[in-house]
Amino acid sequence: MPKWILNTKFKFDAAHLIEGYEGKCGRMHGHSYKVHVEAKSNTLHPSKYLDTDDMVCDFRELKWASKGSEKGGLDHAVLNDELPVNPTAERIAEFIYKETNRRIPDDVSLKITVWETESCWVEYTEDDV
Ligand SMILES: [Zn+2]
Repeated sequence: MPKWILNTKFKFDAAHLIEGYEGKCGRMHGHSYKVHVEAKSNTLHPSKYLDTDDMVCDFRELKWASKGSEKGGLDHAVLNDELPVNPTAERIAEFIYKETNRRIPDDVSLKITVWETESCWVEYTEDDV
């Protein structure tokens, strides 16, 4: 079966604190988050900007989180205000996954990787493979 694997990466700067954390992460601070999005599909689709079936999905839909928070993204946001859960790296990856998934065709499977620092990152997917 054919398979396309779309990849994109972006950065955003944001503030957060981990609620209930005993230690310095419990105080407000910032990170330059790096995000990698992998989108896999066996079929191609049209998009909001293209009528023909020639895309896994639009790169633009995968990069929504890189926009400023006033435009619905996460750049220069306070993540505690944007996420409905405690904004650990794990929860940020899950949030980006769910919000991205809503914007793309149903049969595209996603994997989101979020780097909180150069040496600490987390992957999130709901794919069994
Ligand atoms: Zn932090």
